[in-house]
Amino acid sequence: MESVSEYFGCMVFDDRVMKARLNSDVYNSLKNTIDNGARLDLSVANSVASAMRDWAVERGATHFTHWFQPLTGLTAEKHESFITPAPDGGVIMEFSGKELIQGEPDASSFPSGGLRATFEARGYTAWDPSSYAFIKGNTLCIPTAFCSYGGEALDKKTPLLRSMAALNRQALRILRLFGNTEAKCVRTSVGPEQEYFLVDREMFSKRRDLVFTGRTLFGAKPPKGQELEDHYFGAIKLKVAAYMDDLNRELWKLGVLAKTEHNEVAPAQHELAPIYSTTNVAADHNQLTMELMQKIASKHGLVCLLHEKPFAGVNGSGKHNNWSMATDTGVNLLSPGETPYENAQFLLFLCAVIKAVDDYQDLLRLSVATAGNDHRLGANEAPPAVVSIFLGDELTAILEALEANAPYNGSEKKTMKLGVDILPHFTRDTTDRNRTSPFAFTGNKFEFRMLGSSNSISCANIMLNSAVAESLKIFADELEAAESFEPALSELIRRTIREHKRILFNGNGYDDGWIKEATEKRGLLNYRTTPDCMPHLIDEKNVRMLTSHSVFTEAELHSRCEIMLENYCKTVLIEANTMTDMVNRQILPAVLNYAHSVAETIKAKMSVLSDAACGYEKSLLGKLNVLTDQLSLKAEGLSQAVLGLRDAENAESQAYLVRDTVLPAMCELRAVADETEAVTADEYWPFPTYGELLFGVK
Ligand code: ADP
Ligand code: MG
Repeated sequence: MESVSEYFGCMVFDDRVMKARLNSDVYNSLKNTIDNGARLDLSVANSVASAMRDWAVERGATHFTHWFQPLTGLTAEKHESFITPAPDGGVIMEFSGKELIQGEPDASSFPSGGLRATFEARGYTAWDPSSYAFIKGNTLCIPTAFCSYGGEALDKKTPLLRSMAALNRQALRILRLFGNTEAKCVRTSVGPEQEYFLVDREMFSKRRDLVFTGRTLFGAKPPKGQELEDHYFGAIKLKVAAYMDDLNRELWKLGVLAKTEHNEVAPAQHELAPIYSTTNVAADHNQLTMELMQKIASKHGLVCLLHEKPFAGVNGSGKHNNWSMATDTGVNLLSPGETPYENAQFLLFLCAVIKAVDDYQDLLRLSVATAGNDHRLGANEAPPAVVSIFLGDELTAILEALEANAPYNGSEKKTMKLGVDILPHFTRDTTDRNRTSPFAFTGNKFEFRMLGSSNSISCANIMLNSAVAESLKIFADELEAAESFEPALSELIRRTIREHKRILFNGNGYDDGWIKEATEKRGLLNYRTTPDCMPHLIDEKNVRMLTSHSVFTEAELHSRCEIMLENYCKTVLIEANTMTDMVNRQILPAVLNYAHSVAETIKAKMSVLSDAACGYEKSLLGKLNVLTDQLSLKAEGLSQAVLGLRDAENAESQAYLVRDTVLPAMCELRAVADETEAVTADEYWPFPTYGELLFGVK
């Protein structure tokens, strides 16, 4: 069998292929575009396009597509074949530089939140040369950004690239202040750890809730859940192992650096993490990973669930966004250095992140808000909905000493002077293993843990990059204007710690006491649901910050806010409709059948045994009778709540109604249905149970 190093990236038009297939002028010019964002002229684009076409056709490709990430959170592609008629009745395979650089999909059905009237339906897609083209199936995929003709972003990639540019601009200003003249750019990197569930495909297809909504809307607790924690890091079952092998192989062919795989805490839950890469590439690769996870599952008789909370009562799935900033010369700016000067620089970048997370808690929170993730954040598994930073005890003590100008590390009794003393050695804090912090420093990177498993990582990183760019800008403005750099730097770091230390918390984030302290004493935000946080996207302070770094225009922000709220409402509405459908057409008929058989038993028994009391049967029948009445009543209540949504004037007020009326009605209906399941004979229950779904993959 071929070794991994032989086939890794074989479906990617990467640097190796470019070097081999482009002449050196074209190669250098393309490289300049990739590395420095220089404009690509059309003759170069033509040469690149024809080399790409030859390479793709040799590998069996017949089509190309501009591959983009609209606001649905998924990826989109419209395939066009390479064929062009030849005068002799045949065809030739063509692909021009113009087709490579720009596409014009008729994109009227993508959400635009009012940015693009349908009469001017066309948007355009523009090549992102910093993410390599690749072949998926029979199609050459060109990673692209997607905009309206007015230039407004209609996707998740455009603002992500803008936020990376903003951070780069501001970080370079800081580096220059530290005398760094070498670094040409600062890039953010991300390694997203992706959690998912695998269930049997046949069982999946019998559950309308899973088919239509990706999560179970009913299901009594099985006798065994995750209590024993015997699944975590456990031996991987054969069927799952075969799936993981296949998945890794396909990801490697696409140049995705899939690295670790293991079983997670909940039964049937697993995780895959790649080696980190530049943020826009990591975002593209994460979308591809999610797509392949689902595709490959079906080949193995499985279904991959990426929903944040597919099962009540066991852990949901998240995505840990490991994030850092590094220079093109290879210096990780979140890594403590070897010299006092490097350490002062590290502390300044660290402070920039602390300030950013404190000032823009709302943006970070809303960047991960979806109907699905609302079930997870704040439940007893994921980080709480309150944003805070874990630094570990040692680093926290260092910052406290700096702030107070007090000696650190008792023995020496020496006050640390920034830029003079070397930072005391601190180790990666093992207490971070409790995993309860939403935003944890893990030695040389931050791990943002609030993302839901199905979230595109773009949203979180757009906000993170922008907020950090803003801190760096404020720092650079102050330091550039200072008369003397070093005292100004010390003062700035001290002040930042003092003003923002409320966001630092090393304790247990699941603790109720923490939520009380966070909100009441520290004044931190606690937005529990999507409608609670999303409207803050267009708060004046947020609009000002995001527009000042040219990450979004004000119109784009308004449109995104509306799209996200609409998306929330639609998602819950589909769930509500699925529930009433399942209750009326599956659960109630099934329970009636069961009740009928109990009644028949009573009749039969009494006709034979004249003195039969049938105490058990009668009480069961009575219970079923009460439960079916309750079920139909609660289903009707849910339908009424759904009808009530028609009165809402806009997306925001509809979202509040969904939160306050529809979701509670769903909970009530579910509670009765789950109680009914627990007293209904297995053979009558109309779809697979939790026990079967969670333990059904052998
Ligand atoms: P765990 O969180 O399970 O202990 P690690 O923290 O070692 O695992 O790594 C998790 C992810 O963090 C991986 O995707 C890894 O590539 C990524 N990672 C490691 N270093 C960095 C970094 N400097 N910047 C961004 N991501 C990183
Ligand atoms: Mg991790």
